[in-house]
Amino acid sequence: MNNILRIAIQKSGRLSEDSLKLIKECGIRFDNGAGKLKTSATNFPAEILFLRDDDIPGYVEDGVAHLGIVGENVSEESDRDVNTVHKLGFSKCRLSIGVLREHDYSGVQDLEGKSIATSYPKLLGKYLSENNVTAQIHEISGSVEIAPSIGLADAVCDIVSSGSTLLSNGLKEVETIFKSEAVMIASKHLTAEQQQLLDQLLFRIKSVQVAKN
Ligand code: ATP
Ligand code: ZN
Repeated sequence: MNNILRIAIQKSGRLSEDSLKLIKECGIRFDNGAGKLKTSATNFPAEILFLRDDDIPGYVEDGVAHLGIVGENVSEESDRDVNTVHKLGFSKCRLSIGVLREHDYSGVQDLEGKSIATSYPKLLGKYLSENNVTAQIHEISGSVEIAPSIGLADAVCDIVSSGSTLLSNGLKEVETIFKSEAVMIASKHLTAEQQQLLDQLLFRIKSVQVAKN
């Protein structure tokens, strides 16, 4: 148990395909039959856990998983005590503030006294306080972009990649508060053997990345 690496990846979502691909490109073979929550690698001392992305930083902090692949946005928002060991270069996106398209917007001070809907209260709170803005943060877990058009909030703070979701909800992007990509996070309590396996894995990941560039 001390000599294997448990790697947590997203079960189903935007990170899943590229996470699996990366592990396979590192030469690690495993059987990932549909619906499996855990699988063992056949040619490397590793197990793969399939979880919701939001749960991954907590599992890694607790040492239940030794490594995890998540968006930096999720890792930072979770505020868990883990090491970010490598940037993986996929699932690039940004956390941005959007307001209704017809609103005049001249700068972050315009958010003073406004309400902002988000699933990222910590990152948003940090951004607002760094900019000396006091606004009301409405934490909601999904469909954030609909909030302004139904009068639930004046603005949103959510993940954007192309901007089409904002646009189709009558919003415009006015501030980018965080730039994100998938990262590998690691537990702070690895055994010497696990650290060695992690070093081997990182070496393989870097070789894959170099080969691609
Ligand atoms: P889960 O069911 O596991 O909780 P989720 O719905 O919270 O999944 P996804 O939508 O699959 O999460 O997004 C996972 C991560 O992918 C995000 O946290 C972010 O880092 C990244 N991401 C989100 N939207 C995009 C996008 N449009 N383009 C690229 N990457 C994105
Ligand atoms: Zn999630």
